[in-house]
Amino acid sequence: MQYLKGVGPARAAALARLGIATVEDLLLHVPRRLDDRTRLLPLRDLPHGQESTVEATVAAVSEFRPRRGLTVTKAALTDGSGIGYAIWYNQSYLKAQLRRGMRALFFGRVERRYGEIRLTAPEFEEIEDAAEETWHTGRLVPIYPSTEGLSQRILRNLVRGALAAHAGEVEEILPEELRRSHRFSGEAEALWALHFPETVEAQVRARQRLAFEELLVLQLGVLLRRQQGRAAAKPQRYRAGGLADRFLASLPFPLTGAQRRAIGEIAADLGHAQPMSRLLQGDVGSGKTVVAVVALLTCIQGGFQGALMAPTEILAEQHYLTVGPWLDGLGVQAALLTGSRGRERAQRREAVAAGEADLIVGTHALLEEEVAFARLGLVIVDEQHKFGVLQRARLRRKGFAPDVLVMTATPIPRTLALTLYGDLDVTTLDEAPPGRGPIATHWRQASARPNVYAFVREQIAAGRQAYVVCPLIEDSEKLAARAAAALAEELRATFFPDLTVALLHGRMASPAKERTMAALRAGEIHVLVATSVIEVGIDVPNASVMVIEDADRFGLAQLHQLRGRVGRGAHRSYCVLIASPSTEEGRRRMEVMTATTDGFRIAQEDLLLRGPGEILGTRQHGLPDLRVADLKTDLALLEEARAAAAEILRADPAFADHAHRGLGAAVKRRFAGASLTLVS
Ligand code: ADP
Ligand code: MG
Repeated sequence: MQYLKGVGPARAAALARLGIATVEDLLLHVPRRLDDRTRLLPLRDLPHGQESTVEATVAAVSEFRPRRGLTVTKAALTDGSGIGYAIWYNQSYLKAQLRRGMRALFFGRVERRYGEIRLTAPEFEEIEDAAEETWHTGRLVPIYPSTEGLSQRILRNLVRGALAAHAGEVEEILPEELRRSHRFSGEAEALWALHFPETVEAQVRARQRLAFEELLVLQLGVLLRRQQGRAAAKPQRYRAGGLADRFLASLPFPLTGAQRRAIGEIAADLGHAQPMSRLLQGDVGSGKTVVAVVALLTCIQGGFQGALMAPTEILAEQHYLTVGPWLDGLGVQAALLTGSRGRERAQRREAVAAGEADLIVGTHALLEEEVAFARLGLVIVDEQHKFGVLQRARLRRKGFAPDVLVMTATPIPRTLALTLYGDLDVTTLDEAPPGRGPIATHWRQASARPNVYAFVREQIAAGRQAYVVCPLIEDSEKLAARAAAALAEELRATFFPDLTVALLHGRMASPAKERTMAALRAGEIHVLVATSVIEVGIDVPNASVMVIEDADRFGLAQLHQLRGRVGRGAHRSYCVLIASPSTEEGRRRMEVMTATTDGFRIAQEDLLLRGPGEILGTRQHGLPDLRVADLKTDLALLEEARAAAAEILRADPAFADHAHRGLGAAVKRRFAGASLTLVS
């Protein structure tokens, strides 16, 4: 980087803060917007209410404090046509940068009031060198994400220098055929147009082309990784029928069409010579457990053991209680292995090791501990879409090539799932069991708590039960437990002195948790106060109200899961979010929750609010970072890239064709640092 003209150690450090370490990084530093400086208006003609750029001279600078905590910096601007003012709030450091007599471009929202022209908190850049001006004004000008010590002007000059010196040398890796079919320009042309386009449209096309290239490399890497993962063969092959059929015949309801399709796809996988790697995504309540049990029974029928793993002990216990009665009549032995200590646990472990237990239910710790399985054939991981490549590699190291089914209620668009979970196939349950009404969701301020709890009381009088979730306390089960206990106390003392209020949190001992859950199912508890441990798995059809305190502190996916605890029976159900959000994002989450109960839409919004990296742990999936493409918004492009990648790998899997050499090298380069799992 320091070899580039104009970059010394200080600038290199500033660039590094923007994630720019190489010339390539600089060339792909995408402008956050374009400023249209083709026709700059004189000050006098700036239109009210619009974002505009004006070229003017600073005539005077002043600063004043109308009240405590507020500093106003004001610059008087002139350009021969008139006079205007630029105003900033609490940015007094700008004063040092605004010299009298300085000529600069100002960009901001224009207000015209009482004859005064005003720009509020405009960005500005000083005009220095007349010869250089053609790159900074009189055209569409790029405005970049920047950092201290790098003005827009400096960045623009660096990018332009890099383009002039290196754009022509950048290797063209998009095969000509693809460029032609997608009507993409050449690499150098696209790089120039990304930064200094003639039209807005030209920049959009250039960005698309560069994003496509990036996504193509990503998809090639992901598909290759998947092929390599498939090379292993498993000792076990299964045939459908038998136990699974008897189980299905015993169910009191018919399967949904989506469940039938899912069972079909899984059965096909189980019959293949390669281990299954499948993601089953379906909204809360779509009936994933039944599908899981069919798969487990197929495996058990074939003489192997199945493991069903959940993220929490409570959910593992719930699964055990749900699944146990289903299996009783089938002569299948189930064992629950959770963290509880003691002799019983040791005995259960022995049963697993000796192969006496057919179905083992437990937490994810099943994999981490030295639990020995006699003949593990199938692993089902519930509610854990982050169960990644690494864990599967660990299983394989234990000497198993089991079939793996991962289940999640945080569904994401299919192509995105195929990318992020690269080596997984995807099945989607897109149909709810019949008769489920939407859960009426309301958002109330904290001041309305008495009304909310009066409503809860009405529901209880009508025979229903309620959940109240205490505010989220990040990273501390202990504090969360204490908060839940305090909330339970408060509710007993104030709103519900005559009702049975019980408590559930992750720090309770297993027997106490089991007793509480049993009492809840038996209808002996009116109100269950809980931490977010009840997020998954709890299935009490008589519960019809979910109240979430300080709901804005929870993420969307979590809120959706919590809400999914009600509406599981025939009763009309309600979710009340108590929140006085202090952030825009918190407020937006409340709006989304009240607007929809569709898990796919919620996942999509979550993606927009937080970005895929944070939600899904892009890094955890061993994927390289993206510079131009954006997984939130480039879904259509991602799909095109996937199709193109599949076609290339079909025709030329070794990148032997001259037209594919560059792509092959790029895949190797991009995935080398990012992925330990390429060779797992
Ligand atoms: P999730 O997908 O959230 O794990 P579950 O498997 O817990 O959903 O199912 C939710 C509820 O719906 C359970 O009580 C289950 O017995 C019931 N259920 C599952 N499939 C059907 C169906 N086809 N018709 C009616 N009820 C069903
Ligand atoms: Mg479930």
